[in-house]
Amino acid sequence: MPNLYTFVVNPRFLSSKKGIPEHTVSKIKKLRRQEIPIETLTKGIFEGDKTLLAQGITLLESSNPEHFDKANTLVEKCLAKSTQTIRIGITGVPGVGKSSFIEVLGTTLTSIGKKVAVLAVDPTSSLSKGSILGDKTRMQSLSKDPNAFIRPSPSGESLGGVARKTRESIVLCEAAGFDVILVETVGVGQSETMVHSMVDFFLLLKLSGAGDELQGIKRGIMEMADAIAINKADGHNVEKAKLAETEFTRALHLYPPKENGWTPKVLRCSAMENNGIVEIWEMIRDFAIKTSETGHFDKNRKTQNKNWFLQTVDEQLKQFFHQKKTFKSKQDQMLKAIEENKISPYYAAQTLLADLTQELK
Ligand code: GDP
Repeated sequence: MPNLYTFVVNPRFLSSKKGIPEHTVSKIKKLRRQEIPIETLTKGIFEGDKTLLAQGITLLESSNPEHFDKANTLVEKCLAKSTQTIRIGITGVPGVGKSSFIEVLGTTLTSIGKKVAVLAVDPTSSLSKGSILGDKTRMQSLSKDPNAFIRPSPSGESLGGVARKTRESIVLCEAAGFDVILVETVGVGQSETMVHSMVDFFLLLKLSGAGDELQGIKRGIMEMADAIAINKADGHNVEKAKLAETEFTRALHLYPPKENGWTPKVLRCSAMENNGIVEIWEMIRDFAIKTSETGHFDKNRKTQNKNWFLQTVDEQLKQFFHQKKTFKSKQDQMLKAIEENKISPYYAAQTLLADLTQELK
């Protein structure tokens, strides 16, 4: 039964004013204008309250500078909570069956007592409605499952912005007790590389085609994959899927062995018939056990965190210089000099940076 608190923090109840006395509605509106204290958010997240988890993620996504410190505090508190989780990246072209797959995998996992969070990374969502809609109609059972949490991609953001927010959202979900984090992405631009840099296991979903399986795969994706699952291996497709399996297995052998000792696998599955999904989960568990034993699991997470830090420093340094008032005019001067062959591009870059650094003194 929803109480006043639920109405305040859960926007879903905004429209369900029916039956609520007018004075209560105005109280709700007033309370909603107030910000939720960070202690309440943290406590709620630690207790696994999905509404407050969603509010926490909204805070991370806020572009209001007043929210930055609060968001950082929240992430810090959540980071301090130690958890045992597995982060799985799932990629594949639109239509390959990502949401169907996640729906089946997710419900299988919740039925064995796991708590599953699904986050989407869709860099196209700022331009259009995006390829990953993130609406609840895609994963109908999972979205109603009390042990699942689904969050669409942050929109209106550069890929760097989406990356930060998704990484931080993972931290919040884990603090809320979600032990399997599925990060879904569609193969656009650099989004796969970005998701790969924040997960423990990277799964590529493919379709079986008529001998053209290896075509149209972006360079590097095969190398990143810890497993390839040929989806829609059902009905007339079974034979074609077997062929695709052989072909991908052969292709994967051409890549150098992974540093963590894991040999990427190729499997077949059907999200529609719920076939092969349990096997995929068992393979992922096997991966987690093996790489934990060798220490690679932890090492990978630490490396990812260090890279995240370094990347952020790089990005912010760049931003810092670009924001300097004199940057643009000095850059234009250099470009003109380069066009006129008056200066070497390398020397021009050095001069520009030296000038800007001088201004800092
Ligand atoms: P997404 O765009 O990658 O998220 O793909 P969807 O999960 O939305 O699936 C695209 C279409 O493929 C839908 O019509 C699904 O019903 C269908 N589909 C998904 N998985 C399977 C499968 O295992 N077998 C078959 N035959 N169809 C599937």
